[in-house]
Amino acid sequence: PSAIKDIVLELPETKWTDIGGQKDVKQKLKEAVEWPLRHPEVFQRLGGQPRKGLLLYGPPGCSKTLTAKALATEAGLNFIAVKGPELLNKYVGESERGVRELFRKARAASPSIVFFDEVDALGLNREGEGNNGGGGNSTGVLTALLNEMDGIEELGNVMILAATNKPEVIDPALLRPGRLDYILYVGPPDLESRTEILSIKFRKMKLGEDVDIQVLAGKTDGYSGADLVKICDEAVLAAMREDLGIDSVKWRHFEEALRGVKSVITMEMIRRY
Ligand code: ATP
Repeated sequence: PSAIKDIVLELPETKWTDIGGQKDVKQKLKEAVEWPLRHPEVFQRLGGQPRKGLLLYGPPGCSKTLTAKALATEAGLNFIAVKGPELLNKYVGESERGVRELFRKARAASPSIVFFDEVDALGLNREGEGNNGGGGNSTGVLTALLNEMDGIEELGNVMILAATNKPEVIDPALLRPGRLDYILYVGPPDLESRTEILSIKFRKMKLGEDVDIQVLAGKTDGYSGADLVKICDEAVLAAMREDLGIDSVKWRHFEEALRGVKSVITMEMIRRY
C-alpha cells in the first residue's frame, strides 16, 4: 500500500486572473519561474540558476494554494499537492518511503511542481513541540525530504513550493540555500484587492441593483479572500431562504451574511517575517 493515501497528479485550471490582488506575488513568480522556463537560452546565456524551492507564507485563506495552482497552470507544470501532516505516518520507515514515492512521481511527471501545504508540520517533532497529526516521526520525513531536495539538480525539472501560516516554526534546515530559499509573503487583501476578489466572484452571481461592490469591499477590512467568497455564498443562501423564486441577491442578503461571517485575520497573523 502507498504510504501517502493519495498522491494525485492534478491539472489545475487556475489562472493568474482568477486571483484578485497579489500583484507583487504574481509578478515575482512570473519572473522567478516562468521566465527561465520560457526563455531558457537567454537565462542560461546570462548565467541564471533556476529556483528549486519556494516558500509562500501568510494568514489562512489568502490564496497561497490558489497561487501555487496558478503558477502550475501558467508555467505549464504538472501539479502534485500534499499536506505536511499527511506525510507523517505512524509506521517507522513508511513516511520516508512516501516521500521518495512522491518525488519519483514528480520526476516522472516533470516539469512539475510539488506543493507542500502546512509544511511547518514537518519540523515540530524535531523541536520537541509535539507532533501535528499522523503520529509519525517527522525527523525521518524531513531528512528524506531534504535528501530529495538536494538531489533535484540532477533529477530533473521538479520545483518545490511550500506553504505555511506559521513560518516561525518551519525547520530552519528547510530554508537553507538551494532548498526553500525564495520566500514570499502572501498577505491579506487591501481595499483594491478585495474589490478585485469580489468582482471575480460577482461574475458568476446574479445581483440586485442595490449591491455596490465598493461598499462591500469597504466593509470587509480584515477579511481574507476565503472570507469574501464565503460572504457571497452566504448571501446567496440568505436570498434563497427569503424566497426560492427570487431573481437576484440583494444588498440586504449581503448585510445578513456580513453579520454571520467574521473576519479570521488578526494583527498577529499579519506580522511579517
Ligand atoms: P490556507 O492557509 O488556509 O491553506 P490559502 O492561503 O492556501 O489558505 P487558498 O486555499 O488559496 O488559501 O484560498 C481559499 C479560497 O479562498 C480559494 O479557493 C478562493 O475561493 C478564495 N480566495 C482566497 N484568496 C483569493 C484571491 N486573492 N482571489 C480570489 N479568490 C481567493
